[in-house]
Amino acid sequence: MRLERAVRVRVREGLHARPATEFVKLAKAFSANVEIFRGDRSANAKSSVKLMLLGVKEDDDVVLRADGDDAEEAIAKLAAFVETPGAGLDALKPAVAAAASSSGGAQGVAASEGVAIGPVFAYFPEPLIAPRATIDTAMSESEKARCRAALNAAIAALEQDAAERSAEDRQIANALIEIACDAEFTGDIEQRIGHGLDAASATLDAGDALAARFEALDDPYLRARAEDVRGVARNVALALLGRSEASLAAVPQGSILVADEISAWEFAKAPVANIAGIVGLKGAATSHVAIMARAHGVPAVLGCNIEPRRLREAHVIAIDGGAGAVILDPDETQTKAMHARVAADRTARAALDAWRTVEPRTREGKWIEVLANIGSPAEVAPALRSGAMGVGLFRTELLFMERKAPPSEDEQAEIYAKVASAFAPHAVVIRTLDVGGDKPVAGIEIPHEDNPFLGWRGVRLCLDRPDIFKPQLKAILRAAASGHVKLMIPMVVDVEEVRKTRALIEECRAELAAQSKPFGEVAVGIMIETPAAALLADELAKEVDFFSIGTNDLTQYVMAADRLNPRVASLNRADHPAVLRAIDLVCRAARAADIPVAVCGEAAADPAMIPKLVALGVTELSMNPPAIPRARKRVTEI
Ligand code: PEP
Ligand code: MG
Repeated sequence: MRLERAVRVRVREGLHARPATEFVKLAKAFSANVEIFRGDRSANAKSSVKLMLLGVKEDDDVVLRADGDDAEEAIAKLAAFVETPGAGLDALKPAVAAAASSSGGAQGVAASEGVAIGPVFAYFPEPLIAPRATIDTAMSESEKARCRAALNAAIAALEQDAAERSAEDRQIANALIEIACDAEFTGDIEQRIGHGLDAASATLDAGDALAARFEALDDPYLRARAEDVRGVARNVALALLGRSEASLAAVPQGSILVADEISAWEFAKAPVANIAGIVGLKGAATSHVAIMARAHGVPAVLGCNIEPRRLREAHVIAIDGGAGAVILDPDETQTKAMHARVAADRTARAALDAWRTVEPRTREGKWIEVLANIGSPAEVAPALRSGAMGVGLFRTELLFMERKAPPSEDEQAEIYAKVASAFAPHAVVIRTLDVGGDKPVAGIEIPHEDNPFLGWRGVRLCLDRPDIFKPQLKAILRAAASGHVKLMIPMVVDVEEVRKTRALIEECRAELAAQSKPFGEVAVGIMIETPAAALLADELAKEVDFFSIGTNDLTQYVMAADRLNPRVASLNRADHPAVLRAIDLVCRAARAADIPVAVCGEAAADPAMIPKLVALGVTELSMNPPAIPRARKRVTEI
């Protein structure tokens, strides 16, 4: 049967990208051949490329022609589609998409999904330049008094801050207070004022001089104090100049945080519940601030192509973290649309909540463990609430990055044990320290590297620094006495690294036994995140108890596309055939050696990737906790 119908296109902005794909999907559901005519040209309605090339726009008149048994139904459904303004588009999405390409909008990397609208909180700490004013000797006493008052105020503020913080943070604050009170420092400031320099400049100069002395020391822990000295001097100088430091502590409820770059540490200290969304000029989907934003369910767009001035001057910002779209100062219609989307988003999330406890079993009965990625004990409770069946990746580097010096073995043992007992009897996979040039930590001096992602990081660094590595290995072994703990090694490239780590673990066991410290057994696994590890998976599988594929790094290394560089973000696709082949290779090797394979990179949370990973043989998916209910649901649909 052949049927034709003339229709006027009502789809907003025509049959472009998304609507074209949806239209083609609908056409393919029918056995009839379907053609669409526009003017004197036509296209096969089952080819999205051809359809897009036809350039059908809103308000165009087209003719649909169907040939085949189900032609009638095909024509009815396809005509209804093109006559629906929002067909193939998420409700109200066009408002953001259109604005993102207009003057008020911008596009960036979709770093953490969700929509948000709110007042801007601009976080651009400014460089502090000393005024270098000359102070009359007659005024120097009052200038000194002014300086002492500022110092005392800074100390009081630090004491107040310390009182509200954890024991570890209090130690940091106390170290800063000691510097601020130190006669060496205050004496030098007063001397400089006595020589005719203004208090702010004298404080900054004295801070620089003292910091330089710390920097000249051999001990890396003491060298790290230089940063503290400069911090104290900056704080006092700001007070003397009547300025206050930009601080994330003051983010008001519901704000959109805009910044050039936000470090994971700054974000960890911020009142996250107040942050409705994040817009960053730098960063990409797998930078650590993006990972933390996803962990907290905060929408984020990073690597934005916006002029910093425009970003700073905006009053209100709307973002779509899933689409990577940003609108600066949305108009009334856009504002209304965004508020509606935020409400709809909230409802959708609430609906997914029902899936937190559903059994993640495919229709064929295959059981898939859905686990949480966490970075600190503070994330345990939200992970449990989201329905995590254990921890598939505990990124321990965040514990190190938050500090002025590496945490001791005892401190680490306490933290790991706390997490292990919270999840017992379920497993907690603790990844050993994965730092390097891109994730610096105090107490480990990493010389400048041109390519830090190809440099001294992960297990390479740890094997070279047993003074850092062994306390961590011991802490992990000790935590195994409190729950089900597994140890995972990052950035492995060959068997030798595994053997060396195992030898160190043996040494640690013997030392713990000699000290009569209780410890437990741990399974030892590795991250597969380098092409070398994927290619050698068969050999590595014989040496370890499990694999966990880190698709974030594996993708950047396989695709040779920096995970932090927004310009190559489109190459950073874990579903690229090259990456899928690498995953397949790893799964086959694991199957042959009868060890389990997990995925703990961001791909594990992607609903489009989950069926692919399960088909390849992955049996554990570890992700940011807010994504867990959706992943459980997705598994049941396979
Ligand atoms: C990964 O590379 O996929 C991974 C999980 O590790 P990270 O993101 O911490 O580098
Ligand atoms: Mg990694």
